[in-house]
Amino acid sequence: MPEAFPQIEVAIAASTGAVGQRFVELLHDHPYFNVSALAASDRSAGKLYGEAVDWRLDSELPQEISGMELMPLIELGEPTSPNVIFSALPSNAADEIEVHLAAAGKAVFSNAPDHRMDEDVPLVIAEINSDHMRLTDQQTTSGFIVANANCSSIMATLMFAPLEEQFGIDEAHIFTQQALSGAGYPGVSAMDITDNVIPFIAGEADKLRREPLKMLGTAYQAADFPIFPTVSRVNVRDGHLIVAHLSLRETVDLELEHITEALASFRGPEEVRNLPSAPKLPIHVLSQPDRPQPRLDRDTENGMSVSIGQISEEPNTDRMGRRVFKLIGLGHNTLRGAAGQSVLNAELAYARDLLTP
Ligand code: NAP
Repeated sequence: MPEAFPQIEVAIAASTGAVGQRFVELLHDHPYFNVSALAASDRSAGKLYGEAVDWRLDSELPQEISGMELMPLIELGEPTSPNVIFSALPSNAADEIEVHLAAAGKAVFSNAPDHRMDEDVPLVIAEINSDHMRLTDQQTTSGFIVANANCSSIMATLMFAPLEEQFGIDEAHIFTQQALSGAGYPGVSAMDITDNVIPFIAGEADKLRREPLKMLGTAYQAADFPIFPTVSRVNVRDGHLIVAHLSLRETVDLELEHITEALASFRGPEEVRNLPSAPKLPIHVLSQPDRPQPRLDRDTENGMSVSIGQISEEPNTDRMGRRVFKLIGLGHNTLRGAAGQSVLNAELAYARDLLTP
């Protein structure tokens, strides 16, 4: 760990959207990072942040950020721009520019889907697969890209990881109820979502089939079990709820309390536990029969913990005779599911001295 935490200058790409605003909120007063550049699309470049943004968070827009001028994205590649970039760029817009920035020597912590499944790009949840970070050595650019998974993939992977490690998962069926902010701002039209549930989110199910396996495997070999996802958009502001049915591999003598204990005792490696954004408990197990709920549980440990409840065993085995366990998880999609996860990954990179000031 660098001594006395010298601050590193950082930039935020696409700082005005749902995830970009969370980056501003999390980084404006951060012990390791100082936001010294904000970039936006051609629509917003040249404006002051406070003029361009439609600030939607409950916290105050920080004064010092409000007065900063938004620069064109391409200028983030200049040698004078910060060497660390948090990207909240939308899909497609991220594809070339993130590679360009890595080629310009920048460390890019991305939320966009474009490079998540690239073989040499690590998809990181610091507590689960921090060892995957070494894949950045294989990138041919002088800088690197570290990606975040999709928000629901992050929640599902946190729910799966302790159980995959201790008992092995043979098959997973998941049903998501995803919040409005998951679609960005302004997102789904009020006419479509009021008094309604939309059982479709473009491209989402496919991400849930693949991304958790990349994170649960080794850096070079994905985990191997089928995930059957069904996704939906619900009329909730923040917080994705996931119902999971898991067929486990090692179930001889397995009691429900072993599952509860595996989830409740999950901590992640020592080097991650004391990072500024790391929650004390990445997973909170709830015993109340009607939890977790988005309004009550999404902000647990600053939105960085996943709450899991209703842990139970189905009375019937599956067709293969395997015991099936049910759990319901809930996490904050723009915090643990996006900006908070990127910041935690960057803190880990900082602690490992991987970031150039
Ligand atoms: P959003 O609210 O729609 O914001 C999109 C941002 O991108 C805005 O800041 C917009 O800024 C900027 N932008 C739009 N087109 C652009 C372009 N062509 N070039 C450069 N900037 C452009 O979306 P979001 O929810 O923040 O999502 C951002 C990224 O995070 C996406 O890749 C998404 O898949 C991912 N993600 C989101 C969540 C979530 O819960 N929302 C979770 C995980 C991952 P201006 O128009 O003001 O320039």
